[in-house]
Amino acid sequence: MGEEQWDGRNAREERGRGALPEETRAWEELVATARRTVADGLVVGTSGNVSARVGDTVLVTPTGVPYDRLAPDDITGVDLDGRQILGTLIPTSELPMHLAVYRSTGARAVVHTHAVHATAVSTLVPELPTIHYMAAALGGPVRVAPYATYGTDELAKNMLRALADRSACLLQNHGTVAHGTSLSQAYDRTAQLEWMCRLWLTASSVPGMSPNLLSLAQVEEVGEKLRGYGQQR
Ligand code: 13P
Ligand code: ZN
Repeated sequence: MGEEQWDGRNAREERGRGALPEETRAWEELVATARRTVADGLVVGTSGNVSARVGDTVLVTPTGVPYDRLAPDDITGVDLDGRQILGTLIPTSELPMHLAVYRSTGARAVVHTHAVHATAVSTLVPELPTIHYMAAALGGPVRVAPYATYGTDELAKNMLRALADRSACLLQNHGTVAHGTSLSQAYDRTAQLEWMCRLWLTASSVPGMSPNLLSLAQVEEVGEKLRGYGQQR
């Protein structure tokens, strides 16, 4: 066997198998979502990460690569145990968080950001006060996962606890995590969470006053009502 052929085969093996058409489509949407987190000011530079599950493959943003540089060929995928099966770029350092969500929920997408108001709130309280009924859209009052170093199993564990019966949480002194049945749902939940954190910070910064908060019963009532929200016939 010639040396060239040997090198060629090694390169192919490192890349893993070829991407399926639905993985290629999901990658395109994942990259667009990651770019949107930057465009909308939810992260700066290469902060944050995005993933999507296609079958038992988890597509993830690679670690430390600016999202505007990601091309179709950069598709990066792992199995549910974190073994790389697509691409050659090193997956996000937050793989433990993303995989923990997929292993324990029916989620199809996860978005992690360092959104500024959400991160500010994560340093102030153990739970976002129920300033708005949209907490119900995230499953109830949004908890803050205790701080742990980024990329660790400990952070993933803390996050899972904070996510119980919720589709989003805050990570103390770090940022947000939201999941959904699609990338657009996970993104939308992230944006709603950031908006609610901004609302609470705004209302609670009026000197000498403190905002009215909703009761758990009021939030739960909205949770019921939201099940029929939107264009449903
Ligand atoms: P990655 O570039 O490894 O995805 O890390 C960004 C981040 O937000 C870590 O918490
Ligand atoms: Zn982060």
